[in-house]
Amino acid sequence: MTAAIATLPDADRFALRNATLAAIAVDGFAAPAREGLVKADLVISAGRIETILPQGSAPADLPAADLRDGMVWPCFADMHTHLDKGHIWDRRPNPNGDFPGALDAVRADRETNWSAGDVRARMEFSLKSAYAHGTSLIRTHLDSLPPQHRISFEVFSQLREEWADRIALQAVALFPTDMIFDTAAFADIVETVRQHGGLLGGVTQMGPDLDARLDMLFRTADDNGIDIDLHVDETQDRAVLTLKTIAEAKLRNRFEGAVTVGHCCSLARQDEDIASATIDLVARAGISVVSLPMCNMYLQDRAPGRTPRYRGVTLFHELAAAGVPTAIASDNTRDPFYAYGDLDPVEVFREAVRILHLDHPLDTAARVVTRTPADILGRADLSRISAGGRADLVIFSARRWSEFLSRPQVDRIVMRNGKRIDRSLPDYRELDPIMKA
Ligand SMILES: [Zn+2]
Repeated sequence: MTAAIATLPDADRFALRNATLAAIAVDGFAAPAREGLVKADLVISAGRIETILPQGSAPADLPAADLRDGMVWPCFADMHTHLDKGHIWDRRPNPNGDFPGALDAVRADRETNWSAGDVRARMEFSLKSAYAHGTSLIRTHLDSLPPQHRISFEVFSQLREEWADRIALQAVALFPTDMIFDTAAFADIVETVRQHGGLLGGVTQMGPDLDARLDMLFRTADDNGIDIDLHVDETQDRAVLTLKTIAEAKLRNRFEGAVTVGHCCSLARQDEDIASATIDLVARAGISVVSLPMCNMYLQDRAPGRTPRYRGVTLFHELAAAGVPTAIASDNTRDPFYAYGDLDPVEVFREAVRILHLDHPLDTAARVVTRTPADILGRADLSRISAGGRADLVIFSARRWSEFLSRPQVDRIVMRNGKRIDRSLPDYRELDPIMKA
């Protein structure tokens, strides 16, 4: 029997005493740090963080919860997901878990099952899980091969409205970039993205016309004031390196919007000189990089009966050292690209620490699921602890990194607008009716 983490006072104004904060996720407060962790008291008032005070200095007359050095994080940002694909595993598994198998399985499922009702049911399921885990900001890619783009973006817009108080949502149109020269189809995708306030994305493939495709993409995005978020080099094939071409295209087109790239797996397969020249170019172009460690370790270097030889992730530390904004995210959940996952940033962070060696020291590691992805998504108001900001917090029993990273933290408390939320996860049985499809 474990003790409850804390009982939050049922009051409009109260204190959280003896909290441990990851300094990198806190604005406007300084205290002696150990492994990037600082001690503080927080005063919560009318759903907001009123002040962050040195430990032991919250007013004595306030109702309070004593966290006994438990960690308090801001709510999480999950900046690369696929809510439209999520949770189809039971009706459309990937027989061998590899990348071509995933493409085939998703195509077949999309073509037969992805009605508005089906997409909505699965996206809602994912949002309920993410909310219960403590996430307040999500960007999803949406498969946008016609006619799916209209169906999925319409559902997305409805959910963005319905969930506005709980999770801020962004969507990216995902399509093969060779579609850019199919004038009518591309124009319709751009129009859909414009209507729904989304982003242009796509999967970049090598080819003699890659420069021309990227020029068209950047020009169109620029003309329409749209940001870009691409799937890039999700392969272990070292001959593939479109990342360099993308950075060159952004510079050549003087594109002023935000550009994010995900995956960039093959960068880790390059010789040092090629890798570092590419990283310099990405830094100079002002491109942000998101790594998807769980999904990439699952998909990359997979062959039946053969043990994988590398981890599948990009050169995360080298990119960060060059000044590139870097973050991690969930990517797929229970679909042919990744058989597992639940949109839990604590799991993603824990796995990322192990896969990417974000530890020793862990001083600033917490930024990868909080401050940095929120900044990349243009939401510098979210996923940090700051006086005046919303009291959207996640409270843990764990006091130190070793405690935090050794357990799944299922007993965490999620506070939204200063109130504890019901953290019940949706029951998988809710999906049974659509899994029979
Ligand atoms: Zn993805």
